[in-house]
Amino acid sequence: MARARARNLLALLAGLLLAGGCSSPVAAQNRPVAAHPAPPAAVLIAPVRAPPPAVVGAAAAAPSAPVSRLWQFKRLYDVDYVDVRAIAERFDLKVSWVTAGRIMQLADARGRIRLKFEVRSRDFLADGIRVFMGDSTVFNQGSLYVSRIDVIKAIVPLLSPAEYAGRLPPPPHLIVLDAGHGGADPGTQNLALHLEEKNLTLDVVLRLKKLLEGRGYQVILTRSGDNKLAPLQRPDLEERDEVANRAKADLFLSVHFNHAVPAVTGTETYVMTPQFETSSGGAKDAVVDKAFPGNQQDFANVVLGYHLHRSLLAGLNSVDRGLKRNRYMVLEFPDCPAALVEAAYLSNNTDASRLATPEFRQRVAQALADGIDAYSAALAALHPPLPRPAEIHPAPASSRLHP
Ligand SMILES: [Zn+2]
Repeated sequence: MARARARNLLALLAGLLLAGGCSSPVAAQNRPVAAHPAPPAAVLIAPVRAPPPAVVGAAAAAPSAPVSRLWQFKRLYDVDYVDVRAIAERFDLKVSWVTAGRIMQLADARGRIRLKFEVRSRDFLADGIRVFMGDSTVFNQGSLYVSRIDVIKAIVPLLSPAEYAGRLPPPPHLIVLDAGHGGADPGTQNLALHLEEKNLTLDVVLRLKKLLEGRGYQVILTRSGDNKLAPLQRPDLEERDEVANRAKADLFLSVHFNHAVPAVTGTETYVMTPQFETSSGGAKDAVVDKAFPGNQQDFANVVLGYHLHRSLLAGLNSVDRGLKRNRYMVLEFPDCPAALVEAAYLSNNTDASRLATPEFRQRVAQALADGIDAYSAALAALHPPLPRPAEIHPAPASSRLHP
């Protein structure tokens, strides 16, 4: 966004690789830490080599104990790490090195690659979709390790949501859509093409509302005109969450278009950073230890974000810049699962030229509706509808009422 935080050249270069750009969703201040470097994921094909024997440390309880089955871990670089081979064993996947000591993949019995990790990377591929973690993977004693929180809060919810069935909500019915920015806050501006983010987000949200209502959802908008919800930024953003909370919404979706240097293109999707985790971008938040209301939905958030992101990539045929985590204010306070999408780059003239057309904005809305449907279907599979009383004790034919 045009009025983004001042960034030095290094941050801009890092942004090319890692960070999101639309800065309106105010994020907590970051402080740098000695984190593991996070190169972008690479996908290489190379001869498979069998991994070395397992080396796993002591068993202990997960800090948040989100699942009944616990993970063995070892402490590396002040982080609890789980051997990727333990994930493979639990979910009956076959481990192989794509590139020895560097890239490891896990495939199911049909040979479908479910997960792919690269050493010292903050992201991994989940069924081919790029997902960011809080910590980088590490290579240790012949195997590849991922942080225990990332196993619990990112990898397992995507690999096997049934593991978290008790912590995932039923399919959504009432959805709050938030058109980013508005009024005096234009968001990102593309001056050459005379485009403002606030107008594009509202147009897409209005299209999406129509699509969702046609599919049986109930939809509420945070704004339906060119306005903010409060004069100052923080109350404006808090009020957007409050619209969802007052309505007791089942899902909150904030729609944005991104900003970076002109060459950057693609799609990013954000969900709330889990407690104790680092937001995407390589720095620890000052509030890393704090649990926000949005963290109540960590498991559902990643499932929602994943399906939205996957659907946007397919629908827009865009570059996969990843499902990321950030403590954006609009993600901190919803009482329901929430996500923020940066569907395309308004700062990129190719993306912006597409966004200028109603046809492309309809495609964005269509992809988001399809993503919500996919999320809903994933939850429905975990929460099959209860049989109606008549299906348990069918009434005798003679007593049934005829129209
Ligand atoms: Zn924005």
